[in-house]
Amino acid sequence: TIDKPGQLDEPDSDIERKIRPIDFAEFSGQNSIIENLKIFVKAAKLRGEALDHVLLHGPPGLGKTTLAHVIANEMGSNLKITSGPVLDKAGDLAGLLTNLEPGDVLFIDEIHRLSSVVEEYLYSAMEDFSIDLMLDKGPSARSIQLTLNPFTLVGATTRSGLLTSPLRARFGIKCHLEYYDHKVLQGIITRSSAILNIEIDESASLEIALRSRGTPRISNALLRRVRDFAQVKGNGRIDLEITKYALDALVIDKRGLDDMDNRILNTIIHKFKGGPVGVNTIATAVGEDPGTIEEVYEPFLIKEGFLMRTPRGREVTALAYEHLGLIKPGEQGT
Ligand code: ADP
Repeated sequence: TIDKPGQLDEPDSDIERKIRPIDFAEFSGQNSIIENLKIFVKAAKLRGEALDHVLLHGPPGLGKTTLAHVIANEMGSNLKITSGPVLDKAGDLAGLLTNLEPGDVLFIDEIHRLSSVVEEYLYSAMEDFSIDLMLDKGPSARSIQLTLNPFTLVGATTRSGLLTSPLRARFGIKCHLEYYDHKVLQGIITRSSAILNIEIDESASLEIALRSRGTPRISNALLRRVRDFAQVKGNGRIDLEITKYALDALVIDKRGLDDMDNRILNTIIHKFKGGPVGVNTIATAVGEDPGTIEEVYEPFLIKEGFLMRTPRGREVTALAYEHLGLIKPGEQGT
């Protein structure tokens, strides 16, 4: 047998299952969303109905899939998971829908990537819990109407701007997930550490939180990588020193920014004198889609104070210069 280095460790998917929150009580942050969902779930249960359809939008890794699990669990229902790009034929969707039990939750990730045929097919399913099935082809073709069990569609998207208005209108509950502040992330890291039997100092969990780009998925991933360093280079306990050593070795930005974040800031500074510059121009310069810049990258840069949205375009702040080790023009010698 071959001895693989990672063999003693659990596969990441098992770890993932252990640390993913399963109910409202375990889900941290996003307080107003959770408070509202609690009421809607309770009301639906009182009436013995399926929960209204839920649209979750926000950047990757903020807990959309997790919330779909939580909702199904709190409703006492089954969860079926699929995604926009996977459902390429109306028949695939029909198969899924006709197998749903009353009150089941169907989660469609990347719902903005549904084909228009499948999307239109979804409308009547969402609205009246019915679908038209085509039987046979050619001259003997006929369609029959099938009644579905009432279900809840939970749709997730990172790009709500790409959703068509008829689809958007069919969701009764719409939630926009925000980046997490570092206190909440620190709590998530502490919780994950306890589940995985990792000993960690408070200063270390805070350091990981600060470098996680406001994103729980990144917090959990960094925790696992720092644990590797603590086991190999230290005594297994995660303290601030080993955390800083590990995060620097992994080239994790001090403020948690990723490559694209830094490229956007560098581009505005070096090519456009710090701005103001339009989002389309930035997008072309960094080779990314303008909508993705607007919906995925910008919100974090703005929240952290690196970027401003002005009527004339985007402008970087003094903090961006400082972060990149540059001096803002006009501030030399002060
Ligand atoms: P998305 O679907 O938005 O990309 P996920 O739901 O897959 O994000 O979340 C990524 C991981 O981050 C989850 O597996 C979970 O472990 C963790 N996570 C997300 N949100 C929370 C939260 N609010 N509290 C604790 N852990 C969370």
